[in-house]
Amino acid sequence: MKQELIQQCPICAQEKSKKILKVRDFRYRLNYYSYLKKCDSCDSIFLSPRPTKENIGNFYPSKYFDHGGKADSRKVSLPYREFYSIVKKMALEPGKVLDLGCGKGDLLIGLKNQGWQCYGTEISRESVEYARRNWGIKNVMVKDVERTIFESEYFDLIIMHHVLEHLYDPKTMIKKIKRWLKKDGILLLAVPNFNSLSVKIFKEKAFSLDVPRHLFQFTPNNLKKLIEGSGFKIKALNYFSLVHNMVIFRETIALVQGKKTTSKISPIDFLGFIWAYITALSQRSDTIVLVAQKTNSNS
Ligand SMILES: [Zn+2]
Repeated sequence: MKQELIQQCPICAQEKSKKILKVRDFRYRLNYYSYLKKCDSCDSIFLSPRPTKENIGNFYPSKYFDHGGKADSRKVSLPYREFYSIVKKMALEPGKVLDLGCGKGDLLIGLKNQGWQCYGTEISRESVEYARRNWGIKNVMVKDVERTIFESEYFDLIIMHHVLEHLYDPKTMIKKIKRWLKKDGILLLAVPNFNSLSVKIFKEKAFSLDVPRHLFQFTPNNLKKLIEGSGFKIKALNYFSLVHNMVIFRETIALVQGKKTTSKISPIDFLGFIWAYITALSQRSDTIVLVAQKTNSNS
């Protein structure tokens, strides 16, 4: 299968980088081996070689897109509830919100119920149909996030929940988001944390690496550089996510034991529960949630 070798850092275009980890597809055990490289200049961590845009689809089995979806539109489903509560805490006036990579609309439905005008893009046609049919969210379209176009200064809030790490060009994406946001608009972002205790201990077996679907690995440091360098002011960085971190712990343990990962609650979740708290306190959890505001700078 054709792969592309990344010679220049995709974020800052510098040529010097170091191999930091040999990686493979542990999650689906597809025949895939590569390296993570770290840029000497901006600390970005990227996969090289990586699948091309033409063949990356081969690494997404259809079950990848099945995040459940709830039957009760009055409630936000569990994996999104914490993320949703962050939006609520910001006490923003309902306006226009865009969820890039919105899945079945599980997060948007909560916002729609609060009076937000909801827009979403999603690559899975089935998920888009679900969001339209079940939640009545009309402005959801089947679209590759990186090929999406919107008017300038159109949205009050743009959300990317575990999407940025899948993109080929995150920097261009963040710049586009800045353009689509109104003055003082808010970006809400969740990505896996490469600086996590899981990665430190379990290395290439950490579930959150999810190679080759994740083309980039973010740390609080390189994420801050990317977001601030693209014309945003960081308002908050959160590390606690009971649901995400507990689930990632369960799935990592399964990978380490050579078992299949499961979405079902298991006895190991008791440890995962403690893990989620301890790692969040030391900022070494598996997830980073970032809130940033558009500034007036031209960068
Ligand atoms: Zn760089």
